[in-house]
Amino acid sequence: MKKNDLDRKLRDFVGARTAKSFEEVLGIETVGELLRHYPRRYLKKGELTPFDELEVGDQATVQGRVKKVTLRLLDTKQEVSVTDGWQYKRRKTLTKVVVTDGKHDIELAFFNQPWLGSKLQPGTSALFWGEVTMFRTTMQLKAPGSEVLEDDDLSQEEIERRAKPYRPLYPATSKLNTATIERTIKIVLDTVENVDDPIPPAVRLKHGLLGLHEALRLIHLPTAPKDWEKAQDRLRFEEALVLQTILAQRRAVADALKAVPRERRDGGLLDAFDARLPFKLTSGQAEVCDEVFADMARPHPMHRLLQGEVGSGKTVVALRAMLAVVDAGGQAVLLAPTEVLATQHHKTLTKMLGELAEQGMLGGADQATRVGLLTGSLGAAARRTAMLDAASGAAGIVVGTHALLEDKVQFADLGLVVVDEQHRFGVEQRAALSQKSGDATPHVLVMTATPIPRTVAMTVFGDLSVSTLTELPAGRSPISSSVVPAREKPAWLERAWERVREEVEKGHQAYVVCPRIGDDVKGAADEEGEFADGKEKEEAEGKPRPAISVLEVEEILGEVLAGLRIEVLHGRLPADVKDAVMSRFAAGEIDVLVATTVIEVGVDVPNASVMVVMDADRFGISQLHQLRGRVGRGKVPGLCLLVTDGHPASISRERLTAVASTTDGFELSRIDLEHRREGDVLGVAQSGKRSSLKLLSVLEHEDVIVAAREMAHDLVADDPDLSRHPGLRTIVASALQSDQTEYLEKT
Ligand code: ADP
Ligand code: MG
Repeated sequence: MKKNDLDRKLRDFVGARTAKSFEEVLGIETVGELLRHYPRRYLKKGELTPFDELEVGDQATVQGRVKKVTLRLLDTKQEVSVTDGWQYKRRKTLTKVVVTDGKHDIELAFFNQPWLGSKLQPGTSALFWGEVTMFRTTMQLKAPGSEVLEDDDLSQEEIERRAKPYRPLYPATSKLNTATIERTIKIVLDTVENVDDPIPPAVRLKHGLLGLHEALRLIHLPTAPKDWEKAQDRLRFEEALVLQTILAQRRAVADALKAVPRERRDGGLLDAFDARLPFKLTSGQAEVCDEVFADMARPHPMHRLLQGEVGSGKTVVALRAMLAVVDAGGQAVLLAPTEVLATQHHKTLTKMLGELAEQGMLGGADQATRVGLLTGSLGAAARRTAMLDAASGAAGIVVGTHALLEDKVQFADLGLVVVDEQHRFGVEQRAALSQKSGDATPHVLVMTATPIPRTVAMTVFGDLSVSTLTELPAGRSPISSSVVPAREKPAWLERAWERVREEVEKGHQAYVVCPRIGDDVKGAADEEGEFADGKEKEEAEGKPRPAISVLEVEEILGEVLAGLRIEVLHGRLPADVKDAVMSRFAAGEIDVLVATTVIEVGVDVPNASVMVVMDADRFGISQLHQLRGRVGRGKVPGLCLLVTDGHPASISRERLTAVASTTDGFELSRIDLEHRREGDVLGVAQSGKRSSLKLLSVLEHEDVIVAAREMAHDLVADDPDLSRHPGLRTIVASALQSDQTEYLEKT
């Protein structure tokens, strides 16, 4: 088989020096990399114009024959021999070319391209394009582009085609300008022959896509907009296909894994639990549970993402799934992102289960199990008990943080792993847990309250099935939110604190959330805060003041809210202190909790009715949405006040207004994504790597992604290792190897 030219080194095609500068400046080493350096946009050249119709100021293209060429050194004004042009390439030079159409002459002035003269010998026919100017009494084209027409008998049609009115403009630098890139690409395009097309012919046919060679030619040398549009369509589809093939292969591998089927059993813990449930499941909850039961009854591991609004009742779904597994003789794990949350979950589950969680205890139900808790900060004795319970199988359910992932923790028969708030868990951790159940892989249910648009789910989480809880349980109180512009309207902030006091006087409680703890020297980022916007702001305004901290606010509130019971909670407190604070807040013994984002997820205190977020502009949209989900969880309506002193016309203000105006998580997530760059959507931004997605936008090209996904599925089903699709196999392998798909691991 002939070697694919795209894999060949650039230096086989162009001069060593050029090849080197491409490598150094753009990191481009191969022909394929060069040809996939697509134009940023296209510049319209002038129309092919007869000489006597040229007008000063026009962008025009002319065709003519060279009559005379002179070369002058600009510093000494000395005229030198045109044929020695290359010698002067470090000097400032002016090449003047007189061109004729037979009747009229015009003059072309080229600066610092002394070698051109030998290319444009008298008699040469060529196309020239540039701006028409007047120099003294002579019509000139200043610093024009040129293309020699080698063949003397070109038809007028062919000349018109070559005079194509568009030129590509490349992402370039001062070291490597767009003209050099254009020239090099043209040389390479003229010489490449063997181009393996990753898209199989049948697929191209079905979707009306250009072949790769043709697409590369048209994206670089278009004659009309439809050329690059067709080329982009094809190359965009290819990007989607590569991505979806990777995901389809992963799915295929996952589908081939063995899992112990955990069939739902009647008359067990699950039924007993349902009987004591104080409310009726929403129809969404019931449906999702059925999907989960069906998945888990199969001999292959479930990989399901459950997304649902804050407060949509994901915990019950998870608990019912876990109970079904316990009924089937297995164990289940619930992984939480923070200790606070793990502890909360442990309490919630224990409480919901009541006597059903009191196995071996007086008053425990016959079929009861135990709910273990395993976090990093447990004392040695508690830890040993928890580990023993997990290893012996006495604990049907174990709740914990990543401490659960340690090697030493063993399970008797791990059947299900539930991951709460997936964005904080990586693929490696999922893998670590998978290894805890011997040959068989446990079923995995991942839960998130940050809804993900369909295409992003398909792209980034392409190897998961997705369930969505769309409705909130009945009787949920609405949350109203307002922006409090502290700088423009200081009185509003005072009013905000009054509102807090009023709520407390009615017997409710409040959260005050700050971006920073404040026990550090110089505003280092919080352990939990994401600071989505802090950076942006720093860039825009030079040095911003540090975000307000928990400790500062505690002090301020000591005066403003004198008489109320105020305490702080943040990630750097010892675990037992955190725990104690949280318990007392839950018990209503604290009125106002001043906290960092440790309370972001999962904390469930229905009596809390108001939340004040300080320096709200320092948080991201979805984070704010998460945060405010902590209020309005009971019968009392929730109020969320977003305090900011940012500029009223800033983007961050616009985002706060968006958060205040809707509680629809999907809508907010869409707004959030629109405010980010594509790379951020896929999580590549942090790694600083170039995304392999140049033309595909996961937000804009849903139809392409859907089509590519189907295609990839069929291809992989038919030819799992792609041995019959070598072009696709190569490009998939290189995408995986180059780390360009690293974001796929980051989920
Ligand atoms: P999230 O999806 O944010 O994790 P939770 O599972 O914490 O939501 O549920 C929020 C609250 O709603 C909890 O207090 C829970 O007991 C309650 N809840 C869940 N499902 C229902 C339901 N079907 N009817 C009434 N209340 C429910
Ligand atoms: Mg939850």
